[in-house]
Amino acid sequence: MAHSSLPHPLAATVSDTDAAQRLRAAGQRVTRLRVVVFKTLLEAEQPLSHPELQQRLEASETGGVDRVSLYRNLEWLVQIGLAHRITADDRVWRFSARRAEMATQHPHFHCVSCGQVFCLPESSVPAPRLPADYSMIEMELVVNGVCAHCGKAPPPKN
Ligand SMILES: [Zn+2]
Ligand SMILES: [Zn+2]
Repeated sequence: MAHSSLPHPLAATVSDTDAAQRLRAAGQRVTRLRVVVFKTLLEAEQPLSHPELQQRLEASETGGVDRVSLYRNLEWLVQIGLAHRITADDRVWRFSARRAEMATQHPHFHCVSCGQVFCLPESSVPAPRLPADYSMIEMELVVNGVCAHCGKAPPPKN
């Protein structure tokens, strides 16, 4: 079951300055927490849930961030278009930085075995034809399946 390029190698080291510059370029006021949350998303190799983000922040020099502030900053990043939110069928929200090279609307892959979610930035999703006077706010396509790693795992011995 060979798939083109999953998971997409998105992980990268991003400096605070770089993250701050991207926020400024988007015309946004830069605060310490905004930079840290955005940087963490940019560095992540895949979309992260709230608890995962919190863990990463706790492990970083920043230290823990309270849930409400984290939530507000994530919502803000989504609103200004620097991040996107993915809802897989496990009903967990995950967040990912919006990268320039990504198609604006792209599907996501949810592995039903390990529960991880990946962006499929190279696939674009054609917008559906809507009835007259209907307008789209957002569209989500989640592909449920088994990722390359889980597909290769040996069957459990018994
Ligand atoms: Zn998997
Ligand atoms: Zn995505």
